[in-house]
Amino acid sequence: MSAQGRSSKSKFKRRKEASKPQRILSPIGEVEVRLPVEAAHQSESFRTAVAAAAGWTPEELGDYRVIRKNLDARHRPVQAMWLTQIAQVGHVLPKDNFVALKLPALDADAPEIVIIGAGPAGLFAAIEAIQSGFRPVIIERGAPVRQRRRDLVKITRDHRVDPHSNYCFGEGGAGTYSDGKLYTRSHKRGDIRGALECLVSFGADPNILVESHPHIGTNKLPGIIESMRESIITSGGVVHFGCLLVDIQTDGPEGAVSAVIWKEVDSQEQVTYSCQSVILATGHSARDVFHLLHGKGWKLEAKPFAIGVRIEHPQSVIDQAQYHGEPRGDWLPPASYKLVCQARGRGVHSFCMCPGGIIAPCATQDGEVVTNGWSPSKRNNPFANSGMVVQIDESIWEAEGFSGPLGGLEFQQMIEKRCWEAAGKTQRAPAQRLHDFLEGDKESKDLPTCSYLPGIVSVNLRSLLPESIAEPLAEGLATFGKKMPAFMHADAVLVAPESRTSSPIRIPRDNDSLQHPDVPGLFPCGEGGGYAGGILSAALDGTKVVQASVRRFQDRA
Ligand SMILES: Cc1cc2nc3c(=O)[nH]c(=O)nc-3n(C[C@H](O)[C@H](O)[C@H](O)COP(=O)(O)OP(=O)(O)OC[C@H]3O[C@@H](n4cnc5c(N)ncnc54)[C@H](O)[C@@H]3O)c2cc1C
Repeated sequence: MSAQGRSSKSKFKRRKEASKPQRILSPIGEVEVRLPVEAAHQSESFRTAVAAAAGWTPEELGDYRVIRKNLDARHRPVQAMWLTQIAQVGHVLPKDNFVALKLPALDADAPEIVIIGAGPAGLFAAIEAIQSGFRPVIIERGAPVRQRRRDLVKITRDHRVDPHSNYCFGEGGAGTYSDGKLYTRSHKRGDIRGALECLVSFGADPNILVESHPHIGTNKLPGIIESMRESIITSGGVVHFGCLLVDIQTDGPEGAVSAVIWKEVDSQEQVTYSCQSVILATGHSARDVFHLLHGKGWKLEAKPFAIGVRIEHPQSVIDQAQYHGEPRGDWLPPASYKLVCQARGRGVHSFCMCPGGIIAPCATQDGEVVTNGWSPSKRNNPFANSGMVVQIDESIWEAEGFSGPLGGLEFQQMIEKRCWEAAGKTQRAPAQRLHDFLEGDKESKDLPTCSYLPGIVSVNLRSLLPESIAEPLAEGLATFGKKMPAFMHADAVLVAPESRTSSPIRIPRDNDSLQHPDVPGLFPCGEGGGYAGGILSAALDGTKVVQASVRRFQDRA
């Protein structure tokens, strides 16, 4: 491709050196066009820049299409770096290879795959099942996505958490009322482009296929989830809402899955449903499921995860820091950041940063406080929030008296309960100004306005977090302040806890068959099993696990 001038993979330095573009000899090719963001949005100036980048005259340039959008905010003014397909006049650009996904109708006797959980892992598993000729039967404890919204209002307004329908549970899973960042670092996990195209097929903005860090937004996600579900049902899939998995039965000499048992959440009546394979896509917050497996003596492993707080700044402060003090104008997106350091031998990092976002109350039952964040598609709220978390492992929770495979989960639960008690046993969250936290044992005299709608209460957060977490967190935050001085803004506020960063437990599975080593036919999947860390990776894992389950079915046929 380099003969055609493609430079997307070259490093910035090389791009800078290549100030005089080589003429692209082929009549069809790709160029990376680099120019100030505002100019990139003006068709005339962009067209001129495209031709110049190709070494062509503007008259020679025919059609062009942007296929990748990136920003380089290291320079003033901020630069757009747009990878663009180009064709000379008289030549035709290759067709955009996006074809909207249309699910086929299933045969009446299609074999079934039971899927527990309708989060990204479960929904993508269902779509893959249909494409493979299998009927997905989805069991979801929570409410359909629109109804779920009413349950979220109750958390904020009445401080009541429905244990089956909340920010983590319900149709679409934990990612529905989120920022909807669609980014995974691991390209080994599967067909990322395919997963994004699937989302576009169900209504996501096609720009997510082009943006380097795409996101969808809380206001758009429910419609996409609903249209996925409608399509699954139209094809012959089955979805049971408000139904809780309560047991998995096994049979035969191998102890393979033979049935699942579920009940409606507001009834005691149980349904026993025969099946040969179960995809367990119940997410990182399904503590009852971890207890169920543990109680049956099936292997679980404690897994390192991260705990800390959520930090919030005025968005304008982050914009100024990231955009060199220049106004954001009409073309730059609300700025984000990603911060990582080592402090006292532990990793400290920002997590799930939500520009223009809101801090969300993400508890899954009364008696605990949990935070996370969301943003609308325009990311146009006046605050920027992000998790600020410390990587923890067994040594941390064992020192606090928790051990065994559920040790991390119990430790996580203890912190969430402490936060609930400290802030008055409602969904109000304990909070402290960043400066006061860094100064030591000091409650904040007052707190700035914060987006966390149930409200915040001034508490010394060091009294809630063990020293083994508070100390590296404080050191890490101070380091981030040196890297980005605006981070230390007087109104920066910490809200606790950020505790559901990933699953505290791994449900083991065989590398090849993807089944639990103790239970043939049981396929741990997505974030709850410890196999994903976000919407996209969970979706990819759902697809992968169905493929494994289909292979098992074919081997046994
Ligand atoms: C507020 C918030 C914001 C987030 N923002 C982002 C983001 O911007 N980008 C990103 O990549 N990730 C984000 N995440 C994380 C992301 O949502 C998860 O990584 C992802 O949803 C995991 O997918 P999953 O399908 O494995 O599990 P989940 O999404 O957790 O889905 C599990 C499903 O199983 C159901 N379930 C649980 N137990 C049972 C049971 N016993 N019986 C029946 N059903 C059950 C639950 O109701 C739930 O619907 C966010 C999370 C939250 C909470």
